[in-house]
Amino acid sequence: MLSKNERAVVEIIDMSVNGEGIGKVDGYTLFVKDAVIGDVAEVKVIKAKKNYGYARVMKLLKASPDRVDPVCQVARQCGGCQIQALSYEKQLEFKVKKVRGNLIRIGSFDAEMIDRLMEPVSGMREPYHYRNKAQYPVGTDKDGNLTAGFYAGRTHQIISNLDCALGAEVNREILEIILEFMKKYGISAYDETSGTGLVRHVLIRVGFTTKEIMVCLVVNGRRLPHEKELAKALCTVSGITSITYSINQENTNVIMGKELKLIWGKEYITDYIGNVKYQISPLSFYQVNPVQTEVLYGKALEYSGLTGNETVWDVYCGIGTISLFLAQKAKQVYGVEIVPQAIEDAKRNAEINGIRNASFYVGKAEEVLPEYYERYAKEHPGETARADVIVVDPPRKGCEESVLETMVRMQPEKIVYVSCDSATLARDLRYLCGEGYEIRKWGAVDMFPMTVHVETVCLLSQK
Ligand code: SAH
Repeated sequence: MLSKNERAVVEIIDMSVNGEGIGKVDGYTLFVKDAVIGDVAEVKVIKAKKNYGYARVMKLLKASPDRVDPVCQVARQCGGCQIQALSYEKQLEFKVKKVRGNLIRIGSFDAEMIDRLMEPVSGMREPYHYRNKAQYPVGTDKDGNLTAGFYAGRTHQIISNLDCALGAEVNREILEIILEFMKKYGISAYDETSGTGLVRHVLIRVGFTTKEIMVCLVVNGRRLPHEKELAKALCTVSGITSITYSINQENTNVIMGKELKLIWGKEYITDYIGNVKYQISPLSFYQVNPVQTEVLYGKALEYSGLTGNETVWDVYCGIGTISLFLAQKAKQVYGVEIVPQAIEDAKRNAEINGIRNASFYVGKAEEVLPEYYERYAKEHPGETARADVIVVDPPRKGCEESVLETMVRMQPEKIVYVSCDSATLARDLRYLCGEGYEIRKWGAVDMFPMTVHVETVCLLSQK
């Protein structure tokens, strides 16, 4: 064991789920911030626990051949990206390894089988500027200048950064216009500590297919002075479709307020995933990487193998992205989602696309699904509720056992599991494979390059 402030030389041999480098010193594990696999570094222990510790790089003795210069100047301070210093190719390798490891370790699946059923990882050709949504806090930097960027660590100070490497390139132009406008008219930035000042955040959303742009200022007040002048200045940016402000006068970390005021244009923008059209308002949920969303849900569609006669369930459906994608190839789709607002969006999106064979239930999947099953049995004596295909896309904690249990009782020929956490995926696959299902194939999709996150799609069918 090492103790606090002790120094050691360590070779990084693995990476944690949070993107820290992992190395061992005489069997004692160290998690090293900002180190990548293949680095050899002199490190200083900053926190020592019994079986492992955290350390910081003091001197890089040998840089890993997979190390690259981060594109973003402030990658280390920001923390929004955890693995910019690792080549993209190695990032993908790391993500596949993480999923594979969980399937084998947590799911107790045979390694040879997991490798045989794996499809090549779907990475991005351009792994930067993929986010269609950005929320910049506005404030003053250490010299007292108005700026936008991100909060430095746990302080309320803002580190200026107008062009996040993951966001749309147009964000910079828009932020500059807004900061210029604030200076010109003496409009203050919000200060978290004192609760004074007006402009808190700027939300920007870009429809990657339609090129429509939404700008929403979050303000600590009922009014935004000189809003017409702001609109005029923003309209010089091509694509501006919606300019609004959101009123948030509460002392909270929640960014958006509940009340929205239109300054110019429409209250929403439009965008497409595949050929399905979506209306997106400042408060709507919408996948932030539309390019990879299409890849991910395209895979889910392919795995579903629909011919047009199937009854499909999309459990944890959100705004119905998967449901509407599949409805075009199925007889009937049912979506289940806990957030009522998301279901309203799903219904409206079905309507604007002329999709009539999708219906939605609001509620907890662990209640809606079993209740549906019981009710069906009562209403149709001698029959049971059945589905041909069930797609699930649960939050990180995975599916409740009662959801899995009902899924099995509905005897779908195929189950398509879309997952953002391969540990719970592995656990749930183990359950399903103990109930008559078998993994047919799986693949990882990189929705969030430069971060440690990875999505997985897995096809199961009856044995
Ligand atoms: N496929 C969706 C996103 C799924 S993310 C889309 O593209 O929009 C997971 C979703 O599960 C979220 O929308 C979340 O609100 C919902 N959710 C979380 N817990 C749930 C539960 N217990 N029952 C039903 N839905 C739940």
